[in-house]
Amino acid sequence: MTTRQDPSPQELARLRERYRQERERRIRPDGASQYRGADAASGHWAADPWAGGPAEREPVRDTVDVAVVGGGFGGILAGARLRGQGVERVRIVDKGGDFGGTWYWNRYPGVHCDIESHVYLPMLDETGYVPEWKYAPGEEIRRHAVRIAERFGLHDEALFSTEVTSLTWDEDAEVWIVATDRGDAFRATYVVTATGTLSEPKLPALPGVETFAGHTFHTSRWDYAYTGGGPDGGMTGLAGKRVGVVGTGATGVQVVPMLAEDAGHVYVFQRTPSTVDVRGNRRTAAEDVGAGRDGWARERRENFLRVVSGEPVEQDLVADRWTQSAALLEKLLPSFRRQGDRGAFEAAYEVADAAKMNEIRARVEQAVADPDTAEKLKPWYRYACKRPTFSDLYYPAFNRDNVTLVDTADTHGIERVTASGVVVGGQEYALDCLVFATGFSVGVSGILSGRLAVQGRGGAQLLHLWAAQGPRTLHGFTSHGFPNLLQMGSLQNAAGVNFTHVLDEQAVHAAALVAAAEAEGALIEPPREAEDDWLALLAKEGPDHEWFHAECTPGYYNREGKGRPNGPSAYPHGAVAFHELLRRWREESLGQVLRPRTSPSAPGTPLTPQVRVRRTW
Ligand code: NAP
Repeated sequence: MTTRQDPSPQELARLRERYRQERERRIRPDGASQYRGADAASGHWAADPWAGGPAEREPVRDTVDVAVVGGGFGGILAGARLRGQGVERVRIVDKGGDFGGTWYWNRYPGVHCDIESHVYLPMLDETGYVPEWKYAPGEEIRRHAVRIAERFGLHDEALFSTEVTSLTWDEDAEVWIVATDRGDAFRATYVVTATGTLSEPKLPALPGVETFAGHTFHTSRWDYAYTGGGPDGGMTGLAGKRVGVVGTGATGVQVVPMLAEDAGHVYVFQRTPSTVDVRGNRRTAAEDVGAGRDGWARERRENFLRVVSGEPVEQDLVADRWTQSAALLEKLLPSFRRQGDRGAFEAAYEVADAAKMNEIRARVEQAVADPDTAEKLKPWYRYACKRPTFSDLYYPAFNRDNVTLVDTADTHGIERVTASGVVVGGQEYALDCLVFATGFSVGVSGILSGRLAVQGRGGAQLLHLWAAQGPRTLHGFTSHGFPNLLQMGSLQNAAGVNFTHVLDEQAVHAAALVAAAEAEGALIEPPREAEDDWLALLAKEGPDHEWFHAECTPGYYNREGKGRPNGPSAYPHGAVAFHELLRRWREESLGQVLRPRTSPSAPGTPLTPQVRVRRTW
C-alpha cells in the first residue's frame, strides 16, 4: 500500500472549501428529474439487442411451487438454493432473453467486474469452476450465471423476454396469481422478488437528442452491429469515426480506453470525474487462490466481506484496492467502537479520506501528460461520495492524440444535442456516434417502482401501504398481509460491496423459510409486532449519514445532491453481523413467521422437509 502523509489541519480546511465549491458548481435545481428512463424515450434505447425479439409463445396458465421475479444472480441463487431444499417447480421470469441480469444486458467493450472474480462469482465450490483472471470479463460472468442455472435445471420452467406486471394473492386457494406482459397468469405457492436495483437505463433529458442524425445508444444496449467487434474490442466499424461518450462512472471508465483503440477520435464528455484507482488485473492460477480445497471460495468471500466490513481477519486474502481502502477505516473503527466518540471518529475519518483522495489526485498527475487535462480529471469530493472505480488504462488513454476530454461541469453537463453533434459551452463537437454511459435509474425496478403491483390479503396494495407508512418488513424479506412473498435486495436487509455474496445469503434464507413452511404445512407471514421490532432496531441503531451526503457532490448516492442517502436503509452493523443474526434467528425464532394455512392443501408438490422449526402458534 502506498505510504501517505496525513494532511495538516490547514490542508483539511482548504480541501473542505474546495469540495464545497465543486459541489456548488455541479448542483442542479432539477435534481433527479434531469433524467428520463430509457422506456420513456423512443423504443431503440431499451430494446434487447441480444435476444432477437421475444419468441412467439402461448400464455402460461399452470401452477408452480415458486415464482421468482428476476433472472440475475439474485433469482438464480434463489432458484439454486430452493432446488437444494427439494423444491421441484421453480419458475424464474426475466425481461432478458436468458439468465444473467446486469451481465446479460451490459456487454459493452471492456466490461469487467471490479470485484475480484473469486469472491464475486457465486457457487464456485458447488460448480467446481475456477476463474482465470483476478477480475473477470463480463462474458465469463454471464456464462457462469448460465452455468449455475443449467446445473440446477432452472431453464426448464423459465420465462424469458417477459416482465411480471402484477402479483395477486388468492385468499381462497392461498396462492399467488402471477401476471405478465405476455398474457401469462399462472399460480405459485410462493413468490420471490429478485429485481435488482440498477436495471433501467437512464438518459439525460437533453434538448435535441431525437434530432441527432448520427448513431446513438446506451452502454447497456451496445450496438455491435454498428461498431463491429465485441467486448474484447476489434470495433472496425468505428475506424475514422468521431465518437462521443457521455458519462465517466464505472462504465465510462471501462469503455473509453477500448474506444480509444478503435475509433478515429473520442470525445469524453465529463461532468464529475471518478476516482480511478489501481486495477492490477492479472491471470491467476488455481493454486494462487487455494482452489481445490473444500470450501475455498466460501472462505475467501467470507474473508473479503469481513475485511470490507471492518471486521478482524488474520490475513487479507484478496488484498486489492477495495480491501486496502477499507483498511483505512478499519484502523479507526476499533477505537470508535470502544469509545463511541463520534466526533473523534469523524475527524480521524476525514484525515484518512483526504490522504486517500490526495493519493488518487497524485495518480492522475503521474499518469496524464497534459497538465490542463490532468487538472480536469482530478476528483474533488470525499472518497465515499461516489462509487470508486479501478483502471490502469483510463488515465493513459488521455495521452493519446485521438482522445479529448471535454469538461462539462460549468454547464451542468451537455447543453444540447444537434443533428450533427453535441454542444458544450456554446461550442459544437461534431460526432458520428454518441454513446450514453449515463447509468441506471435508482429505485425503479421491482416493488418500490410501482411497475410491479402487489396485492395481498384483503386486496391490500403493498405500494399504497408503504407510501402511507414507509416500507415495512421483517429483515427485509417478509411483510405482514403478504403471505409467502419473499423479497430480496438491500431494503431493510444487508448492503455490501460484494452484493452477490449478500444475495446468496438471502437465497439461503428464503429457501430455508420455504422449506420450513412446507414442513409445517404453514404460510410465511410475519406478525405486525415482529416488523415493528425490526423497524425500531433499524431506526435506533441506524447510522445518520445525512450530514455526510449533504456535503457530497451530486449523484445517485445522495439523490442528486438532495442530501439524503438514496435508497432504503439497510441493517446498520454490516453484512457479517446481519448474516449471523439471520442464522441465529433461523435456529431459534423462525416459527415466528409461520402461521397455519386455512386452505386444506397447497397446490404445489410436497417438499422435502430439511429444517426443524419451533412452532409458536
Ligand atoms: P453512473 O455511475 O450512474 O455514471 C453515470 C455518468 O453519467 C456519471 O459520470 C454522470 O456524471 C454522467 N452524466 C449523467 N448525466 C450527464 C450529463 N447530462 N452530461 C454529462 N455527464 C452526465 O453509471 P455507470 O457508470 O453505468 O454505473 C452504474 C452502476 O453500475 C454503478 O453502481 C457502477 O458502480 C456499476 N458498475 C459496476 C461495474 C463493476 O465492475 N462492478 C462496472 C460498471 C458499472 P455525474 O457524476 O456528474 O452525475
